[in-house]
Parts: sequence; C-alpha cells; structure tokens
Amino acid sequence: MDVRPAIARRGVLRGAAALAAAGAGLLPGLRTAEAQPTEPFAVFLQRMSSRAMAEGISSTTVQSAFAGLTPSERVMELEGAQPEFTRTFWQYMDNAVTDGRVAEGRARYAQNRALLDRVEAEYGVPGAYLVAFWGLETNFGSYLGDFDVIQALATLTYNDRRADLFGAELIAALHLIDNGWVRRDQLIGSWAGAIGNCQFLPTTYRRFAVDFDGDGRRDLYGSLPDVFASAANYLSSIGWESGYIWGREALLPAAFPWEQADLTVRKTLAEWQALGVRQIDGSTLPVAPIEASVVVPMGHRGPAFLVYDNFRVIMQWNRSVPYAVAVGHLADRIEGGGPLRGARPNLGDPLSRDEIEEMQRLLNARGYNAGTPDGRIGPNTRSALRGWQRSVGMPADGYPTRDQITRLRTG
Ligand code: CA
Repeated sequence: MDVRPAIARRGVLRGAAALAAAGAGLLPGLRTAEAQPTEPFAVFLQRMSSRAMAEGISSTTVQSAFAGLTPSERVMELEGAQPEFTRTFWQYMDNAVTDGRVAEGRARYAQNRALLDRVEAEYGVPGAYLVAFWGLETNFGSYLGDFDVIQALATLTYNDRRADLFGAELIAALHLIDNGWVRRDQLIGSWAGAIGNCQFLPTTYRRFAVDFDGDGRRDLYGSLPDVFASAANYLSSIGWESGYIWGREALLPAAFPWEQADLTVRKTLAEWQALGVRQIDGSTLPVAPIEASVVVPMGHRGPAFLVYDNFRVIMQWNRSVPYAVAVGHLADRIEGGGPLRGARPNLGDPLSRDEIEEMQRLLNARGYNAGTPDGRIGPNTRSALRGWQRSVGMPADGYPTRDQITRLRTG
C-alpha cells in the first residue's frame, strides 16, 4: 500500500542532498484557470474546521492551528514549479551518497547500535537501512524543512486540483496536534507537508509512528528511538522482508537482452545467472529462492543493479529508482561496503523536457506509441523507444539520449 501520494512527492526538496538541487533551473509553472479557488480562504478554513471537528478533533486544536493563517505564495510557486532538467543517475548518486555522509552514517550507526539492534529485533529492518533513510531524508536530522506545514497543507488544499490528497494530510496533521504527539509550533517541514527526522507525511506519521521510548508520545522530532522504530514499523508494514538485502550492483554481458532490464521483468536468480548476470566482482550470483529485476538507470552503457523485493519496498517510500539505489548503497557503505564500481558514461546533460517531448513526437510519427507527448519518461515512452531501438539494431535499453533524437529526426 502506498501511503505517500506521488503528487505530494513531486519536486520535494529532500534533505541536504536536495538543497543543492534547489537552484537547478526551477521554472514556475502556469496555473490554469480551473485551478483557481472559488471561495475565500476564510470560508475554506471554516469548511476544513467543520470537517476536522466531525472527525473528533477538538475545536481548541483547530482554532489555534488555523489562527491567523493565510495562504503561502512560496508554496504555490514550488507546487507549480517543474524542474526543467532532471539529474542523471550519477549526478543524483554523487550528491546523495558522499564520503562525508558515509562517514557520518557510520558514526551514527555505531553511536546508536544498541538501540538499532533492539529495533531490528522488533521489526526486522536492519539498522543500517534506518540510518540510511535518516541520512537521505534529513541529513541525520540536521535539516527538517522550514515551512509551516499547517499553512503549506492548507494552501495546497485550497488551491490544488488534488485537494483530496492534501486535505487528508491537513486533517492528519491536526490529529497529530490533537493527540498530543506534536505541538503546533513543531509542525515545520517541507513545502509539501513532510515532517520529522524521516520526513513522514502526516497520514504516514499518524498511521505508522510508534512510541518506542515509552514516554507516551510518538515523537519523530526529538526521540531517536521513536524515529527509528517508526521508520522500521512503516517499512515492515509495507512488506520489508527481513533477512534479505535490497539488491546488489551487477555486471551484465554485452549481449544481454536489454529489453529485460526493467522493474516489470522478474526472474529467479538462477535465470539471471543463466542470462550472464554476475556480481559486480564477476562472481556468480548467490543461490536463494527469490526473484529479482535488473535495472540500468543510465541505459546499457551505465551501471547495472540486480534488485530484490526490498528495493520495491524502498520505492513505496519514494517512487524513484536512484533514491532506492541510494538507500541500499548507503546502507551497504554504513556496514563497511565500498563505492559503486559501475561505468560512468559521458552522455552529456540530461534531456530537457522539450527534448523528451520531441523524442515522443518522433516515436509516435514512426508508429511507436509513446502516448501524448508530455516531456516525461514513463513506461509508454520507454516501451516505444525500445521498439524503435530494436528495429534499428541498437541495444533496447529504453534509455533516451540526444544522439537518438538526432537519428530519429534524420533517419
Ligand atoms: Ca516517545
């Protein structure tokens, strides 16, 4: 079950790793006419107050939470912003898993080892992964966001076409105050409403947070026992398989059937072994009764990963392949593992939205159905691109490059 709506994740600036991305060409998007609110903000707040009180939240909590509230223009700017360029896998990874973050992760892991072992015994999620999430989400608690989350969620609910998603988060945030888990003035977080050391959305907080230190509050701000146990409880609840890792970096043969490198393709380790997949050091794959997928986040010229079910669990936390690799790899590093060894192909800057849209139009014109051109690489675009790549004898990795756009234009 996915408790973190994808829309609330889009463009969220995540921890220190993402601070560097804040200046990376964010352009304000255009708000369409139908998105304009039709009621005054005060009337909207009155409506939300009634809804909150109908759910049993006290009028005192609601009144003090909404006192003096106005919509945030900054939140609407961020909500409407579309990144002009995405980052390549390596640009993301080099920023997310730095030597400094590995060193701090190892230190935090050592400092909290007894607690992390108790959490693992209770929930089955190894401590290195919990520290890795913590490091990626908030740089180990050093950056929790600086938006008033009640104001941000009220703004998004008031203005947004996905008001039902943000409205549920706003109500959940009020429950957190009403339960006494969080004070109103503590509700500072990301512009899209993520809060605390692991940047849970309020609905996730309400549903999965646990009081592991036994003080009566589920405190994801000030209590590391609560933070680690809540992250572990959430991961366990969405399917974490104890005893298994996330996956591993892999070596693929040049003649690999590249159309099989996709999260939708699952095979046993023995089947991948037969297709020539090896561990990154060249050794044979382990013998285990599990299925895996192969992912190549920079196409056939870049690094390859053999990913297990726990990788899919990490992607429920955040639906991003590079994020999930970063969590798994940082956990490995925290436990003493070495850097990634995969190739760093020089493919230039990532494609712009305009370039991706052009590629989609060119693929459609040639009869490969990339769907309505929207400048985003989704399953349809990858599938269309693989079809064309196959037809011209290229490795069908579904990874778009500038060279291929040139060839699609002219060939
Ligand atoms: Ca507690």
